[in-house]
Amino acid sequence: MAKYLGPVCKLCRREGEKLFLKGERCFTAKCAFDRRGFAPGQHGRTGSRGGSDRASDYSRQLRAKQKARRVYGMFEKQFRRYFTLALKRRGLTGLNFLQTLETRLDNVVFRLGYAASRAQARELVNHGHFVVNERRMDIPSMLLKPGDKIAVKEGSMATTFFKELKDIAETRNSATWLERDLKTLSGRVVRLPERAEIDGNLTEQLIVEYYSR
Ligand code: SF4
Repeated sequence: MAKYLGPVCKLCRREGEKLFLKGERCFTAKCAFDRRGFAPGQHGRTGSRGGSDRASDYSRQLRAKQKARRVYGMFEKQFRRYFTLALKRRGLTGLNFLQTLETRLDNVVFRLGYAASRAQARELVNHGHFVVNERRMDIPSMLLKPGDKIAVKEGSMATTFFKELKDIAETRNSATWLERDLKTLSGRVVRLPERAEIDGNLTEQLIVEYYSR
């Protein structure tokens, strides 16, 4: 699967806010955005990021879309495909879209607190450390539905990483639409998330407008 290999912190600086893409590091003094909170590049200190009053509608829509895409760590083609899926579902397209993104396996691993970031969650899934409904699953983009169960693979539980993870995960919150069992490092999708349970900083309406142009 294609993976973004460029400088991650630049993405936060480009969007003009912390996107928390690097897990624990984002909460330390090492955070690049805290040290240099302006856009990268020659005109970074003076240029507009698209959020000012002067920014055009298109620019605002584009930035909203790019921010969400970066938060979930996806390339454009795949991101747009999720939007097409959301369009086909009944209800509010924007909410459908966010719900689809939230139910990706890598995001669920992250939301359960079993990874420090979505990027780490994706790597753990890629390396085959998880089972879904008792079957080994190494596809991070798999979409889960209510009732689906995930767990750390039995063989992986004996590794130092997962032994330590039990204590670390306890210090992280789990999403309210998921059920978590720290003893067995497992979890279940109880229901789809409501809007209030998803990142409040995302403006799905602008994303819908962007893709509906
Ligand atoms: Fe963004 Fe985290 Fe890097 Fe800070 S440390 S700039 S929040 S990815």
